[in-house]
Parts: sequence; C-alpha cells; structure tokens
Amino acid sequence: MLAKLTNRQIIAENTLSATFSLNEVADFLPGQFAVIALVNPPYHDEKGSERYFSINNSPNHNRDITISTRLHEPIEDGSAFKRSLNEIPLGTEVEIKNIGGSFTLPKNQIKPLTFITGGIGITPFMSMLRYIHENDLDYALSMFYFNRTQASTAFLDELQRLGQEIRNFNLVLIMTDDNSWTGEKEKVTSELIKKYLPNWTDNTFMTSGPPAMVNGVSQTLKDMGVTRDNIVTESFSGY
Ligand SMILES: Cc1cc2nc3c(=O)[nH]c(=O)nc-3n(C[C@H](O)[C@H](O)[C@H](O)COP(=O)(O)OP(=O)(O)OC[C@H]3O[C@@H](n4cnc5c(N)ncnc54)[C@H](O)[C@@H]3O)c2cc1C
Repeated sequence: MLAKLTNRQIIAENTLSATFSLNEVADFLPGQFAVIALVNPPYHDEKGSERYFSINNSPNHNRDITISTRLHEPIEDGSAFKRSLNEIPLGTEVEIKNIGGSFTLPKNQIKPLTFITGGIGITPFMSMLRYIHENDLDYALSMFYFNRTQASTAFLDELQRLGQEIRNFNLVLIMTDDNSWTGEKEKVTSELIKKYLPNWTDNTFMTSGPPAMVNGVSQTLKDMGVTRDNIVTESFSGY
C-alpha cells in the first residue's frame, strides 16, 4: 500500500513519531506491526530502507498508520533510514507492507492482563490502550512503564489521562533516573510487581521492546514462577 507522510513530531527526548495516511483502509489489530519502506530516501546504508514498526494508533483510525522510534543522539550517528525519516518532506510517499503479528489483545477480557515495558517498547501498547479506551472495553488491566526521566517518556501526558479514564486500569509509572519524580524509581523486580499486583499468579503478562529488555522482563517473571504460557512477548529485533 502506498501512503504519504502527513505528520511528524518529536514526542519526547530523541523520540520521533510519524503518521502515514493511506487512500485505503488498513486492516490491523491493536498491537500489530507494519513494515515502512522508504522510496528514494536521501540517505543510504547497508541496513537498507525498510524497518518493522509497531503501529501506535487504534484500528478505529485505519486510514492512518502512526509509528514512533528513538533517534540516535546525535542523529548523524544513526542509521540512514532514521536520518531519512527525520528529513523527508511532508507529503513524501512511502510503502507500507507486511502488516501482521500475533502480539494483540487477548480475547478473554476476564483474566487480568498486565503490560510491562520501557522506553520505545510502549508503541504496541498505545494502540491497545487507545482501542480499549475508545471502545470502552472491560479488561482488568495493569501497566508498568519504565523510563529514565519524564522528559524521555513517550506519551506521558496521554497515559496519565488514560490512567484516569480507562476503567480498571492500574498504571504504574517508574522513572529510574529523575530526581523530580516522586513515584516509583526502581528497575524491574519481582518485589515491585508483587507490590502492585497481589493477584499476580492469575495474570497474563505482555512485554515488548528491544530484545535485552524483553529478555530481562521475561526472566524476572519466570523467576517469580509465572508460567511460559502466561508470558507474551514482542521483541523489536534490529535494536
Ligand atoms: C516486530 C517489530 C516491531 C518493532 N517496533 C518498533 C517500534 O515500534 N519502534 C522502534 O523504534 N523500533 C521498532 N522495531 C525495531 C526497528 O525495526 C529497528 O530495527 C530499530 O528501530 C533500530 O533501527 P535502526 O538500526 O534504523 O536505527 P538507529 O536507532 O539509528 O540505530 C543504529 C544503531 O545504533 C544503536 N543505537 C541507537 N541509539 C543509540 C544510542 N543512543 N547509543 C548507542 N547506540 C545506539 C542501535 O542499537 C543500532 O544498532 C521493531 C522491530 C520489530 C521486529
């Protein structure tokens, strides 16, 4: 499918969000990914001009695909793909393909569901949370979202609002390196999870992000005794 870049903004420190608008409807579920292929980009390298990204918007807005990504600091040290994405003019055409993935909301809304993520791993959960909010779905939901600082936290304001507006949503924001943050500050530990989830044995846990983070969270959950079939992961390979 061809799409045009229609919006691009910095949404947190070194974090770029881009929206591509389609002339047709995109068929996707909350949490799925797409491949964005740049056409005639200004920069080239051996890693090529295509990348997988989790879709951030809800399928209720299916003529758009919004993605977000971390930019290298300085941007000149990053990949040709990201330098190009950061510079191509609004209106530039890209190709969107390979929409898919099994990292989606469980059908069962009764079983408690917990998202654990950090940094850019938030992206598939934004699609899910926006969809749950817009459709007033009744999941028993918790989320642990780890970042270094408030300034580097993507979607912070929107998440704090969703934390108030989604029914049964227990949002735990953790800033590991922010003196002005009065909330939780520690890294992912079983103690932190158990503190907010007394019924953790009944939960399905979903985690996404760069492979090192997903592996770390999965290991913590396994060490707690969470069974493999209650841990669902999406690894952003390529980081
Ligand atoms: C299913 C799936 C979903 C994905 N979803 C997303 C998503 O929603 N958002 C997303 O951003 N990516 C996502 N990815 C990963 C994405 O496809 C890219 O592989 C990733 O963004 C890295 O891109 P890059 O190499 O172009 O970028 P760059 O970020 O420019 O990285 C170039 C290299 O520098 C390293 N690097 C980056 N920043 C720093 C730094 N500050 N200091 C030192 N080294 C650094 C990187 O590890 C990389 O090796 C997903 C991947 C998959 C498979």
